[in-house]
Amino acid sequence: MKTAICPGSFDPVTHGHLDIIERAASVFDKLIVAVMFNARKQYLFSPTERVALLTRSTAHLPNVSVMYSEKLLAELCRELGVVVTVRGLRAVTDFEHEFQMALINRNLNPEMETVFLTAKERHQYLSSSVVKEVGALGGDISAFVPAPVLAEIKNKLLT
Ligand code: ADP
Repeated sequence: MKTAICPGSFDPVTHGHLDIIERAASVFDKLIVAVMFNARKQYLFSPTERVALLTRSTAHLPNVSVMYSEKLLAELCRELGVVVTVRGLRAVTDFEHEFQMALINRNLNPEMETVFLTAKERHQYLSSSVVKEVGALGGDISAFVPAPVLAEIKNKLLT
């Protein structure tokens, strides 16, 4: 049984995230999607809300589970006995940061390997930040986020 972990903020989960999650779920026996805490970020959705939206958006994937953690990823992986981390890579923007994180994580936990997957072309430009910006201005974001997110984000941004 090969288990992988897919960590991120998911504030909120987009079709870009879901694309990566679906690809990882088809490659690994089990996938843990971990909503992580990042002190540098200000979140629109609470951890409980982000976990609930991810759980509903991945309900069609039986080998995917969702959790929240405030631990260091390297530490969480050690505790869970998981050695593979899956991250999504968009065109150019993600490389520098992802490369740095992969090497730092392996330094902190030498067993850890980071696997990079790429989403479909049409999801390459998507990010949670862009979705929130467009949504806050009343733009149509139905093509960018899974259905469970759509209603919730409208409530958050437009009330
Ligand atoms: P983080 O704060 O850890 O970057 P995010 O929720 O922004 O968390 O992203 C989680 C992972 O999903 C990252 O690996 C990111 O590169 C990837 N990702 C986000 N959006 C997309 C997308 N549109 N296509 C491919 N990967 C994506």
